[in-house]
Amino acid sequence: MSRFLSPEAARLAPYTPGEQPVDMQYVKLNTNESPFPPSPRVLQDLSQEEAGRLNLYSDPACGRLNRAIAARYGLAPENVISGNGSDEVLAFAFRALCGTGRGVAFADITYSFYRSQAALFGLEETIVPLREDFSLNVDDYMDFPGTVVIANPNAPTGMALPRLDIQRLLEANPDRVVMVDEAYVDFGGRSALPLVEKYDNLLVVQTFSKSRSMAGLRIGFCIGSEKLIGYLNDVKFSFNSYTMNLPSQLLGAEAVRDDVYFKAITARIVATRERVKRELRTLGFTFPDSKANFIFASHETIPAQQIFQALREADIYVRYWNKPRISDSLRITIGTEEEMDTLLAFLKDYVSKRRF
Ligand code: PMP
Repeated sequence: MSRFLSPEAARLAPYTPGEQPVDMQYVKLNTNESPFPPSPRVLQDLSQEEAGRLNLYSDPACGRLNRAIAARYGLAPENVISGNGSDEVLAFAFRALCGTGRGVAFADITYSFYRSQAALFGLEETIVPLREDFSLNVDDYMDFPGTVVIANPNAPTGMALPRLDIQRLLEANPDRVVMVDEAYVDFGGRSALPLVEKYDNLLVVQTFSKSRSMAGLRIGFCIGSEKLIGYLNDVKFSFNSYTMNLPSQLLGAEAVRDDVYFKAITARIVATRERVKRELRTLGFTFPDSKANFIFASHETIPAQQIFQALREADIYVRYWNKPRISDSLRITIGTEEEMDTLLAFLKDYVSKRRF
């Protein structure tokens, strides 16, 4: 036992982020960022006048950003809370909606930050295994009395759930909250947002880090009933009233108004993903049908860890976990056409040499 560490901190299970090499001569396909810059409107928006306001605290309520998000999704600003990345709003939700007598359930193969949160807040966690093919069956959660957290599409598999499944979960028990983490929904999933007005036990979490190309600004948000959002705000204002900096609030609001750019770049990523799927198949890879900006692929004969190492030596970064059930797969983020060409050319050569 350390002389200094608290017992609560001693039980932490810190999340391990993907590498962020500073030297950008790598082909970076390891953390599901967008390969494109943010909307040009974002880059124009930080005026001298606004830069001159940096001596003041940012708006603790994130009003401008919340209003822009609410307008985009046809809801009221009271239905929105924004934070420093969706990781932060997830943390607010975990703290607000799980605790003594109310545990949390999530899949065995999903975003590993949920486990870190459960450990941080000392929550009783129930891990629900995905089926053999990595599909999530909502029937496995029907009787769970606590808070349910589902990434849709899931990470790292990319598999999406129909909205009807989320609706069934919401209806099965109106007294428990279902939190849907839609970090990747803009690449082909079906959002649960249209259900927010009908179900006051639904929370939908989204991010600007993927489909809006703004991972570096750290913007995430959560949409739900006014009551639930109020609970999250109580946690936020007990933790740090000014979690979001001023530039993120201003630029986020501008980004969310540029739907034309948003639709164009997400369509490009989806088109590239579908092409990469076809080409990976011809090279002997299999994968679940991803609706996200990544593919979770395993090779019919070559162990994933070996491919991972070989790619790394070629300065191509993907993500690999040496963990049960997923150690034979690589998560490959969809980059630009050119980046994916570099990856595919390498793999073609590598696989052909390993076949003979
Ligand atoms: N949810 C999922 C499923 C993710 O993969 C990520 C990215 N690591 C996040 C949430 C957090 O994203 P951010 O904090 O950048 O909004």
